[in-house]
Amino acid sequence: MPISSVPVPEPVHRFSERSGSLIPTLWRRKQQGDFSAEQMTFLARSLGLPEARVCSVSSYYPAFRANEELTDWASPPLKNASIIPRAPYVFVGSERRVTARCGIESDAETRYAGLCSALSRSPEQVCSMIVESGLRGRGGAGFPTGLKWQSAKNTPSDERFVICNAAEGDLGAFMDLAILESDVYSILEGMAIAAYAIGARKGYVYIREEYHGTPSVVTDAIVQAGAKGFLGKRILGSDFDFEVEVFRAAGMYVCGEETALINSMEGRTGRPRMRPPFPTQAGLWGKPTVVNNVKTLGQVAFILREGPAAFSSVGTEKSRGTAVLSFSGNVVEPVIVEVPMGVAIEEVLREFVKVPGGKRIKALQTGGPLGGVIPAKLFGTPVSYEAMSAIGSPLGSGGMIVLDENTDMLEVACDFARFAAAESCGHCAPCRLGTAEIVRSFEDRPRVEAVAETLRTASFCAFGQSAANLTLSILRHFGDEDGGRSRSNR
Ligand code: SF4
Repeated sequence: MPISSVPVPEPVHRFSERSGSLIPTLWRRKQQGDFSAEQMTFLARSLGLPEARVCSVSSYYPAFRANEELTDWASPPLKNASIIPRAPYVFVGSERRVTARCGIESDAETRYAGLCSALSRSPEQVCSMIVESGLRGRGGAGFPTGLKWQSAKNTPSDERFVICNAAEGDLGAFMDLAILESDVYSILEGMAIAAYAIGARKGYVYIREEYHGTPSVVTDAIVQAGAKGFLGKRILGSDFDFEVEVFRAAGMYVCGEETALINSMEGRTGRPRMRPPFPTQAGLWGKPTVVNNVKTLGQVAFILREGPAAFSSVGTEKSRGTAVLSFSGNVVEPVIVEVPMGVAIEEVLREFVKVPGGKRIKALQTGGPLGGVIPAKLFGTPVSYEAMSAIGSPLGSGGMIVLDENTDMLEVACDFARFAAAESCGHCAPCRLGTAEIVRSFEDRPRVEAVAETLRTASFCAFGQSAANLTLSILRHFGDEDGGRSRSNR
C-alpha cells in the first residue's frame, strides 16, 4: 500500500514541546556531574514533567548511566572496528558526488548551486526530480527518498520537519562522521532542499553520542551558512525560511531507527513506534517529518545541480548512483571510499584495502549487527542493495568490517549476538528474550533458526526481526569451524 494512502490516526499522546529539552538538559547535567535525586526532582518540576518520566529517560540512555562497553569483550577485528577513526576519503570514478568540493567561501552559484536550482522550481518539481533519480535511503533500509518526500509534502499539516540522521550506530561505520566533519555544508544544502520540497521550516541534525566534536562543527557551519544567507529567513532572496539545530543523541543503537529517534527527540525513551502512521504522516510532535541519513542528503545537491539523469546514469537498475563504504577491522588503515553502485566487492578490496601482514581476507561483515557476512568465495558480488541482500549480507549503511584468515568466525558471531542482546530496547518479549537466547545457544544452528523465526515473526520492529540474521549468516558459511571453546560464557 503506498504510504500516502494509509489513514493517519490522531497521535495518542500529545507531549509538551518542553519535554524536547529533556535530553539536552540531561547532557548539561552530565557535564556538571550532577545526577542526584534532588536534581532529577528539580528537573522534572522545571520542565513540567512527571518525575518518573525524567528518571526512566535518564536511566534508559547509555550517555546518562554507567554502561558496559562492547569493546570490553569484543574480539580483535570488532575492537578495531569500534574505534572511530579519522579515515581518508577516496572517491572512484570521475566525480565525488556525496560531498561537494567547494568551501563555504565559494560563491552561491558553485557552493549552493543545488539549492539555487531547487528554489527556481516548484516543490513538486523538486520531489519529482528526486523520485526520477531513483535515490534510495543510504542509512540501511533503502527506501525511495523521493516517495518519502512526497508523502510528507502531501500530508496536510501546518508544520513539517526535516531530520538529518547521523546516529550512525553500526560497528565499523564512520562515513557520516567523515562527511559531517569534512563537508557539512553539502548536508545543510541537502536538508534545505528537502525542507523546500516538503514545506518544512525547521530541521535538526541528530548526531551520535560518541561524536563529541561534531555538534560544534555542525553548529559553527549553521551559523556561517546563516550569515551567508543559505539558512535562516528569506534564503537566497526567496520566500523560503529554514532553520537548523543540532540535537546530540544519548546512545542506544535502536535510536538510529527513525521512530525511535523521534521519540528520543521528544524526550522519551528511544523505542520504536508502531507504524502506521509513518513519520512522514505523524513524526516529530505528530507532524509530517522526513528523516534522511547523512549520505542520502549528501546526494541531493548533486541531483538538483546535475539533473536526475546524471545521477541515475551510474549504478544498477535498482541501486542508482554511488555508494559510500567504510572499511575497518583487520586493516592497515581504515578507509572510506565512494564507488559506483554495481562495482564488484573484490575490485574495491583489491584497490583500497590492505590487511596487516598481507593476510588473506576470509570474510567481510556488512549491514551492521543486523546484517551478515560475505565469505571470500562471494567477493565477486556487486555492491548494490539487491545483489548483497540476495546473498544474505545486505549493504546496510555501507560499513564493512574486514575479517582476516585468522579470525574465529564463531567468536565474531558471539560478539554480535551479545551486541544485539545489549542493544535490544526491551520493549517486546520476543526480542528481549530471543536475543539473550541466541547468546546462550549461538553455536546450535537448529536452535538459533527456531529463535530467529520467532524473532522475525513476533518482534515489534526491524531490530528484533533481523537480530538473528548475522548469527545465522555466520553459521551458514562458517558453522563447521570449531573454536573448541565455550564462547557464550566468556
Ligand atoms: S524488537 Fe527489540 S528493539 Fe524493537 S521494540 Fe522490540 S525489544 Fe525494542
